[in-house]
Amino acid sequence: MRYSFAGLYILMVVVLMTGIGVSRRSYKKIGKSVAMLLAMLIPPVIGNLIIVLSSTKGISMIGCYIYFIGMDTVILALLHFTFAYCVISWPSRKLKFAVYGLIAIDIIQFLLNPVFGHAFDTEPIPVDGFDYYRLIPYAGQTFHRVVVYGVFISVLVIFIVKIIRSPRVYVERYSIILVAMVITGLWQTYYIFSRTPVDRSMAGYGVFGILIFYFSLYYRPLTLLDRLLANMASGMPDAIFFYDAFGRCIWANQPAIELAGLTDDKFDKTSALLQAKFGTKEDFNDPEWTCTKVLGEGADAKYYFQSKRTVTDEKGKVTGSFLTIRDVTAQQRELQQERYNATHDTLTDLYTKEYLYECIRKRIDSQPKEDFLILYIDIVNFKIVNDIFGSSFGDETLRQIAVSMKKELTSKGIFGRLGGDTFGVLIPKKKFDPAAVERDLSRFNVNDGTVEHHILIHIGVYEVIEKDMEVPFMFDRALLAMLTIKDEYQTHIAFYDEKIRNEVLWAQNITTQLTDALRKRNVVPYLQPIVDQNGKIVGAEALARWIHPQDGFLPPSSFIPVFEKNGMIVEVDKYMWRCACEILAQWKEKGKDLFISVNISPKDFYFMDVTEEIKGLAKEYAIDPAKLRIEITETVMMTDVEKRMEMLEDLRKAGFIVEMDDFGSGYSSLNLLKDMPVDVLKIDMKFLTKTTDDAKAKTILQNIIKLSEDLGMFSLTEGVETQSQLNMLTKMGCKLFQGFYFARPMPLTEFDSYWEGNR
Ligand code: C2E
Ligand code: MG
Ligand code: MG
Repeated sequence: MRYSFAGLYILMVVVLMTGIGVSRRSYKKIGKSVAMLLAMLIPPVIGNLIIVLSSTKGISMIGCYIYFIGMDTVILALLHFTFAYCVISWPSRKLKFAVYGLIAIDIIQFLLNPVFGHAFDTEPIPVDGFDYYRLIPYAGQTFHRVVVYGVFISVLVIFIVKIIRSPRVYVERYSIILVAMVITGLWQTYYIFSRTPVDRSMAGYGVFGILIFYFSLYYRPLTLLDRLLANMASGMPDAIFFYDAFGRCIWANQPAIELAGLTDDKFDKTSALLQAKFGTKEDFNDPEWTCTKVLGEGADAKYYFQSKRTVTDEKGKVTGSFLTIRDVTAQQRELQQERYNATHDTLTDLYTKEYLYECIRKRIDSQPKEDFLILYIDIVNFKIVNDIFGSSFGDETLRQIAVSMKKELTSKGIFGRLGGDTFGVLIPKKKFDPAAVERDLSRFNVNDGTVEHHILIHIGVYEVIEKDMEVPFMFDRALLAMLTIKDEYQTHIAFYDEKIRNEVLWAQNITTQLTDALRKRNVVPYLQPIVDQNGKIVGAEALARWIHPQDGFLPPSSFIPVFEKNGMIVEVDKYMWRCACEILAQWKEKGKDLFISVNISPKDFYFMDVTEEIKGLAKEYAIDPAKLRIEITETVMMTDVEKRMEMLEDLRKAGFIVEMDDFGSGYSSLNLLKDMPVDVLKIDMKFLTKTTDDAKAKTILQNIIKLSEDLGMFSLTEGVETQSQLNMLTKMGCKLFQGFYFARPMPLTEFDSYWEGNR
C-alpha cells in the first residue's frame, strides 16, 4: 500500500510538472498564475511522498516540513491565481500585507519548530506491519490551520461572489473551480481531523491542479448554438474578434487572425497589434464605436470599416464584445469613381460646371480675406475650328487647353469646363499676371499631329467684390467683360469694370421700363425722308426714338442692342410697325402717296411669325402693302436660309416690298444676293466714308449698283451727307437716296411740314 501511494504521488508530480510546462508556454496571461499554482502543489505532494516512504522519524519530520511550508506557498499561489482568474485586485494594500504577513509568520514558526517543538511532532503507527509516521499537532499547527483555512475560505467566498455577480455564461467556469476547491478542501479536512495515517487527499491536489489547468487555459463554455455561431463566425469573410467581459480578446476568426497578424492564436496580443496597425485613436477596449480607417495612400490606400459592439445578457450585464473589421476598399473606390465621374467632365477631365461652382463657393467662403478673380475663358470661333478641321481636332483643342490649364493653374486656383468651348477659373488676384497670360494666349497653337492651328482665346475677368454673389452671376459678369473685346487679335483679356456694370444696370433698367414706355407712347417713330433722283420725297424710314421721362431723348443705339440681346426687340418692332401703319393710314386719307420702311430685327424671326404679323397689320389698317417696306439685314439670312427666303417670298407675293438694309457693312454675300427675294438693295455709305474719294471704293459702289440693276433690284443709298456724294451716286445710276444731306430723322408733324415744303 505504501508503494502504491508512492507511485500515485510520483505520477501526480509528473502530471503537475507537465501541466507547468504547458501553462508556462501558454500565451494567456493566466498561464503564469496557473503554472505557479501547479508548481506550488508539488512540494506538499513530495512532502507526503517522503512521509509515506519514511522509515525513520527524522525523515518523516523533513517530509512534514516540506508539506506544511509547501501548503503555505500553495495558499499564496492560490491567492495569486484567484486574483488573476477572477480579474480582481486587492481592496487595500494593508489587507494584502496582513495576509502575506500571516503566511510569512506561519512559515517562520514552522522553521522554528525544531528549536521549540511548538508546532508538531510525529509518532510511528504500525500499519500492515510497517511504521507510518503520523502527525501530532501542537499550537503552532493550529495557527497554521487558522491561516490556511482563513485564506482558503476567503478564496471560496471570492468565487461565490463572482458566481453571483457574473453573467450566466461565466458562472460555469467559476463554479467548476469552486466545486473542485470545496471537494479538495473537504477531503483534506477529513484527513486532518480523522487522523488517518496516509493522506489520501493528496490525490485531490492532483485532480484540483488538472481541473484548474484545464478550465483556466482551455475550457470554453460552448452550447450547441454557441458552436453553430462560432462556426458561422469562422466562415465569415469579415474579420471578427471576440472579447470577454474584461475586454480581453478570447477568439478571432481566420480573416481576423490574418488581418491582425496574429500567430499561434495568441489572442492576448490582438489589441496591441490592432492599435499598431490602425493607430491608437480608437481604443480597442472601448465598448462601442464604428469608424472607417484608411491605410496607405493614393491608389494603394485600403479602407477598413470597423465596428465594435458590446453584448449584454438578459439582465443587461456585459458578457463580452466583438469587433468586426471589413475591407471596404472596393466599395470606397466605386464610390470615389462615381463621385469623380459626377464631378468631372469626360472629355477634358476638368471639373464640371456644377462642381466648379460648388468648389468656388467653398473656396471664397473659406478665405474671406483673399481677393479673387473669376475668369471666363472662351475659344473664339470654335464652331469654325470644328467645321474646318473636324470635330476630333475640336476635341483635341479642348483637351490641350485643359492640359495647359492644369499645368498653369493647378497650384494657383480652381478651374473647370463651363460648357462646350468655355472654361471657368477662380484664382487669387495676386497670382494672376495678365501680361504673362496675354503672351501665352497669343502663342496658343494646337497640333494634333497632322494640323497645327492657332487657337484664339478670349478671357473675361471679374474681380470678386461682392463675395456672397452667386457664382453663376460672377461668371455672367466675366462673360460680359469678355464680350467687350473688340480687337480680337490684339487683346485677349478684358476686365469687368464700372462701364460694363453701368451697361448692365442700364439694360436692366430700360428692360423693366419698356412695356410702360410703349403703353405711354414714350417710344416714337422718327421719320427720315427718302428721295428720288429728282429730289422728290417718295417715302421715309421709321426709326425709333425713346423720349425718356428721366433720361431724355434716347437714340436707338442706347436701347435697340439691349432689346436685341434679350429678345424684347419683338415688342419694340411690333409697336413700330403698328405706328407706321397708323401713319400710312392717315396719309392715305390725306391722299399722300408715300411709303414707310420699317426695320425688322433678326431676333423677330425667332419669337414671332413675322409674315403673319405684318399681313395682319396691313389688313387691320387697310393699307396698300406696297406702301409698307420691310427692311431686313443680312444676318436674318445667316440661319435657316430656306425658311427665311420662303417667308420673304410670301411677303413679296402679298405685295410688300422687301429691302436689304445696310448692304456692304456686314458679311455681304454676293452669292446669296442672287437668290435673295428682295426688291431694294440699301447700300450703307458708312462703309465707304473714310475712302469715298478712293478710286477703288468708287468701283465697288459702281459695281454694287450695277449688280443690283442686273439682278432686277432698285438701289437705295443711305448715309448720303454731301452734294458730291449725291452727284457721284446719281451718275452711277442709284435711284433712291437717304441721308443727312436731305434731312435727319424727325417727328411726324415735322416730317409732314417738311414734305409740304418740298413737294
Ligand atoms: P438703319 O436701319 O440702318 O438706319 C439708318 C441709320 O442711319 C439711322 O440711325 C439714321 O439716323 C442713320 N443715318 C441716316 N442718314 C445718315 C447720314 O447721312 N449719316 C449718318 N452718319 N447716319 C445717317 P439711327 O436712327 O440711330 O438708327 C440706328 C439703327 O438702329 C438703325 O439702322 C436700325 O438698325 C436700328 N433701329 C432703329 N429703329 C429701329 C426699330 O424700330 N427696330 C429695329 N429693329 N431696329 C431699329
Ligand atoms: Mg434701317
Ligand atoms: Mg441701314
